[in-house]
Amino acid sequence: MKVFNHLVEEVVKPDFCMGCAACVAACPVKCLELKKELPALTKGCINCGICYGVCPEIVGPKTLQMKIFKGQPQDKLLGTYTWVLSVESSNIKIRTKCQDGGAVTALIGSLLEDGYIDGAAVTGTAEEPWRPVARVATNTEELIECAGNKYSRSPVFLGLRDAVDLYYCKRVAVVGLPCQILAAWRMKFSDPTNRHLADAIKLRIGLFCGGVVGYDRFLKNIVDRQLHTPLAEVAKFDIKDNRFIIYRRRKPKRELALSAVKRYTDLPCKICTDFAAELADISVGAAGSPPGRSTVIIRTPVGEEAIDTAKKFRKFNAIELSRIKPGIEEVRREAEAKKKMAAKELEIMRRMNKLAPVWLVERPGASGKGG
Ligand SMILES: Cc1cc2nc3c(=O)[nH]c(=O)nc-3n(C[C@H](O)[C@H](O)[C@H](O)COP(=O)(O)OP(=O)(O)OC[C@H]3O[C@@H](n4cnc5c(N)ncnc54)[C@H](O)[C@@H]3O)c2cc1C
Repeated sequence: MKVFNHLVEEVVKPDFCMGCAACVAACPVKCLELKKELPALTKGCINCGICYGVCPEIVGPKTLQMKIFKGQPQDKLLGTYTWVLSVESSNIKIRTKCQDGGAVTALIGSLLEDGYIDGAAVTGTAEEPWRPVARVATNTEELIECAGNKYSRSPVFLGLRDAVDLYYCKRVAVVGLPCQILAAWRMKFSDPTNRHLADAIKLRIGLFCGGVVGYDRFLKNIVDRQLHTPLAEVAKFDIKDNRFIIYRRRKPKRELALSAVKRYTDLPCKICTDFAAELADISVGAAGSPPGRSTVIIRTPVGEEAIDTAKKFRKFNAIELSRIKPGIEEVRREAEAKKKMAAKELEIMRRMNKLAPVWLVERPGASGKGG
């Protein structure tokens, strides 16, 4: 059986770790901590192998796709789905703070009000401006505090652990990037796993993702120091039309070419093929919808049930994406571009004889009973 040492050799050392903290959260004896965004052993490990079992960088999306949807994706670029909406929150407070249409915040807010879930593992910030921290939200006010994109890696599973251990939540929604959604499924399917956490995940909301940038390397060194834009002055970051936009409080916005920013993208993102969070119950993103709305892709029976439950509260306006522009083709274009970039990057790594990520080998038995 593979244990923490293998995780270090196969994922952490070659720079494939995304710092999602699934391993740290799932450790039954709490012997792991995140140090500089990476898992580190702090006391005696019992070699149970759970950390390896839940890591999203071990088993690839194709294996998990088969387990979740029992077949190949119906759409090679977008994955399996049943319907697609364009959503705008009707709450002005949400619309002011959210990234796009506030779909994520409005949807989870309604589900909390209904009791469908009793907590959500989300990403906020704390003392250091714009550094992502894991948070637990149990009401709309707490969700609003965490609304909006942080463009660096989030240890979101520490939020799941806190929701279960400190808030005694039994039905939790996890909001995460495609890699984090993979980790949420790894928790469910792996053997060994931490059942206590895995069974508490009721809903997986995935965000479309073009990749994250290093907090220290990009936000602190480039934006804050070199561009003389203190992060505390930034009201919002956004990516639109191939530009990285920095909205500052009471000052003109600044813009950077997205191609220049991509140099600071983390390695696992460069080789990730999943734009549309293909394994989520519900995926949400900007592409496909006009400004001020979010595209919402419903994929699983749980996703459908959650949308139906939330709709009753009338906290958002939802229309079929097919009725508006730019529509699903824009999502497909972004998804295709990400898959092509990943293939190119993997080819470069192969030519340079660099170690390939374990998931690329797609071994169904990689963690005991697989998945
Ligand atoms: C790093 C990143 C890259 C993205 N890239 C694209 C892209 O290329 N194209 C595209 O169409 N959409 C992209 N998205 C998704 C999109 O920008 C919005 O997040 C999505 O449309 C939801 O908007 P909303 O207004 O409904 O969300 P809100 O109601 O504002 O809620 C946003 C939720 O995202 C969570 N969140 C914020 N930052 C992170 C993070 N770093 N990790 C995990 N969770 C986080 C928050 O907890 C919050 O619950 C990206 C999102 C992120 C975080």
